[in-house]
Amino acid sequence: MSALVLDGLTKRYGSVVAVHGASLRIPHGQFVCLLGPSGCGKTTLLRMIAGLEDPSGGRLVIDDKDITEAPAHLREFGMVFQSLALFPHLTAGENIAYPLRIRGANKAEQRKRAEELLELVRLPGVADRPVSKLSGGQRQRVAIARALALKPKLFLLDEPLSALDAKLREAMQIELKQLQQRLGITTIVVTHDQREAMTMADLVVVMSQGRIHQAAPPMEVYRQPADAFVADFIGLTNLLDGEVTAPGAVAVPGGQLHLPNLPPSGRVLLSVRPEEVIVHPAGNDGPNRLTGRLSFMRDLGASVEFRIDVAGREIVAVSRPQDRPPVEPGGPLSVEFPPAACVVLPPMGERPQ
Ligand code: ATP
Repeated sequence: MSALVLDGLTKRYGSVVAVHGASLRIPHGQFVCLLGPSGCGKTTLLRMIAGLEDPSGGRLVIDDKDITEAPAHLREFGMVFQSLALFPHLTAGENIAYPLRIRGANKAEQRKRAEELLELVRLPGVADRPVSKLSGGQRQRVAIARALALKPKLFLLDEPLSALDAKLREAMQIELKQLQQRLGITTIVVTHDQREAMTMADLVVVMSQGRIHQAAPPMEVYRQPADAFVADFIGLTNLLDGEVTAPGAVAVPGGQLHLPNLPPSGRVLLSVRPEEVIVHPAGNDGPNRLTGRLSFMRDLGASVEFRIDVAGREIVAVSRPQDRPPVEPGGPLSVEFPPAACVVLPPMGERPQ
């Protein structure tokens, strides 16, 4: 049985299609990140799941029950917004207990649950402190605790960490992931930060222009991107235009590569991560090597980054310092593209089959 199914969810605002036919199956207990650039539709998709936005088309099913038309308050989901939306005049404990108060729980029950939840988010002893006297990270935890007060079936968060400084944000990412693992609650987080998604998610849902391009575990999204958008959006990559010239052979700027998994003919796009590109001294011939010139090099301590001009195209390579060939900027180099590192994609602008 699957926990949550999005079946062709669509949202139109006049002529703008904010979300276009989003389909996805989210098993129980998964941590899902909706990831994409600003305006790609991730907040709209989350709000449709929450019941805060009516879909223009499609269905939403949880545990085999169609909830497309169910009002937000009957969905039993917990939600944390970017703004946190805490009540500034209430204490941390009163904020957390607020959903219980609305449901008619008595004062003792409210207090007990607020203290349990503060313990859960590692913030014991602040129940009586006004939220205005808490730090950004502490307020974040209070908002998370409040969203969990009614033991929701689904935990939804919209850019929950974006207001925090970089260091606190990273610590909270790990904490949120650990909390989710302890509770085993299906969680969906909107973020535009790929590092955040890679840190927390079991399933990364990459979106652009209202469409889901790929939904897969973080390493799969990185190693086997579905298309040029995903390859380019997640981490750094080299994209090479190619034309299949013979079975297993593809012409790229500067030469020819021999690869498995090529289509029988036509144009393709190759994605090769910088850390997979091997840099050799010039004249060091071998299969799948192209010659080029070093245009820029920088030492990053643990690694060395090369920018190499191959037939007018810039190739980025990252090596370990000890594997660095003896070459100065302007000097010739040989660049190897190991077949296993070359991901064959449809040409730019075409969608994968
Ligand atoms: P961000 O990261 O900037 O919040 P997002 O990926 O969450 O972006 P959405 O907020 O879902 O994107 O917006 C998707 C598209 O729908 C955008 O083009 C946006 O302008 C449009 N849109 C969102 N809400 C409305 C609305 N209420 N009325 C009209 N257009 C809207």
